[in-house]
Amino acid sequence: PPTHRTLDARLAFHATHRPEYPALVCGGVEVTYGRLYAESARGALALAASGLTKGSRVGYLGKESVRFYELLYACAAAGAVLVPVNWRLAPTEVEYILRDSRAELLFVEEEFLPTAHKIRPDLPDLRHLVLLDGTDESARTLKDWKDTGRGAAAPAPATTDDAVAQMYTSGTTGLPKGVVLAHRSFFAVRGLLDDAGLDWIDFRPDDVSLIGISGSHIGGLWYATQGFNAGVTNVALRSFGGREVLHLIRESGVTTAFLVPAMLLMLLSEPDAAEADFATLRKVVYGGSPISESLLQQCISVMRCDLAQIYGLTETGNTAVCLPPADHVPGSPRLRAAGRAYPGIELRIVAPDGRALPPGEVGEVCIKTPARMLEYWRLTDATAATLRDGWLHTGDAGYLDADGYLFIQDRIKEMIVRAGENIFPAEVENALCAHPAVLDAAVIGVPDDRWGEAVHAFLALRPGAFAAPYEIRTFLRGRLADFKVPTRYTVVDSVPRNPSGKILRRTLREQFWADRDRAVN
Ligand code: ATP
Repeated sequence: PPTHRTLDARLAFHATHRPEYPALVCGGVEVTYGRLYAESARGALALAASGLTKGSRVGYLGKESVRFYELLYACAAAGAVLVPVNWRLAPTEVEYILRDSRAELLFVEEEFLPTAHKIRPDLPDLRHLVLLDGTDESARTLKDWKDTGRGAAAPAPATTDDAVAQMYTSGTTGLPKGVVLAHRSFFAVRGLLDDAGLDWIDFRPDDVSLIGISGSHIGGLWYATQGFNAGVTNVALRSFGGREVLHLIRESGVTTAFLVPAMLLMLLSEPDAAEADFATLRKVVYGGSPISESLLQQCISVMRCDLAQIYGLTETGNTAVCLPPADHVPGSPRLRAAGRAYPGIELRIVAPDGRALPPGEVGEVCIKTPARMLEYWRLTDATAATLRDGWLHTGDAGYLDADGYLFIQDRIKEMIVRAGENIFPAEVENALCAHPAVLDAAVIGVPDDRWGEAVHAFLALRPGAFAAPYEIRTFLRGRLADFKVPTRYTVVDSVPRNPSGKILRRTLREQFWADRDRAVN
């Protein structure tokens, strides 16, 4: 492979060396490396012909598709920056992202065309609307648009430090911010280190790689680009479904997959999961949110393949930390770790006053990685607050053990303080999930007159199962310090999570207040 570390250069390499090899299968459409490259090159010319220059923002509003990756590579080759928009967002949220990014062109799937038309008057920078499918006459079709690039001068090649994607944080901790990532962020850390060091997320040439989560999330975009960089066949889903994935693994002979814990839970909760055929799977990479030990144990026993955990943020680009397969030993305390830093990446735990803390002490996790974001788009203060002296402040609380393994507690902002004691929701949720009747759990802190905050648990029970609050409390007593044991319980059909599997605590807080108001009135 070329040493030139840009996404488009890697694609060009595979297009030359194995043009007929399938690069991606999604929604029943298959594209070879040769074709993906050729179409992306046409797209790059059309971007230039549309007046998009280096650094221009380009939105994508649609589900996962072959087109999505074709357009990512078109942007890469044209020096433009793709802004993938999560199609599940409400029109006002879509509008926020497109306006904030100053997108000049929007690619849209027909299903979302009404949204695009509705918000367009409020998007002063948007000059072009291109329809990816269908024949609606209110927008130019992709084919017509691509034809406009005929004869256009090829854009100057991008460099590894040029921005290529702008990913919006999901906003679980505030307004979404545009995280600007360069080509460099999508290269294996090993690659950044001149191919030295360990390769925990390796690919083999004949791998069939399942991208469980959409490219509008860093996890999906990261895993997909790793697969394309390596020249393997990638399989993506239009949208996630447990049954569909079980089917895909068997039908497509999936050998390696990236799934977030919430997806693993859905998958293994399918009625026929226990008998499912995972024979082709050699490795499952998971991460993006905490995983409960009970779910991890289930993965080990049912999937019977290598497991690797990753930890990172949109802001770190590439994953920074990995728990390799060798550390997935049932019963080992390492199973609670997120992993160790890749060679070339440094971890540090700091106190609120900025002091570095010794092993075993909990503080904010800070990461120094060459794959980190360039900046938060047009947010100088937020960038300066997050990136200090090259250290990325993650907002996560955690500690390192003496061997350099990182244990994530939870987001600092989610911490519950009860009578001066700190409680991290993830630890309580992990203990709740160990109860045989509990399928999924979430906890939040709620106001408490006596203790400041009380721990309130929301439980989704396994089908047909029942557990009274006193039973759960008794179960938790030996596993958690008394002050961490939830004092209030609500049973819910399912724990609300965003598409990347993160618990929507805001929704739970709203539910708590609505229930309380109802009780009062
Ligand atoms: P925000 O909530 O700030 O709006 P987001 O939810 O989109 O943004 P991401 O960048 O997708 O943020 O997620 C990063 C966060 O996910 C980390 O800070 C951490 O809290 C959590 N996370 C990622 N991987 C793991 C892991 N392996 N174990 C525990 N938590 C993880």
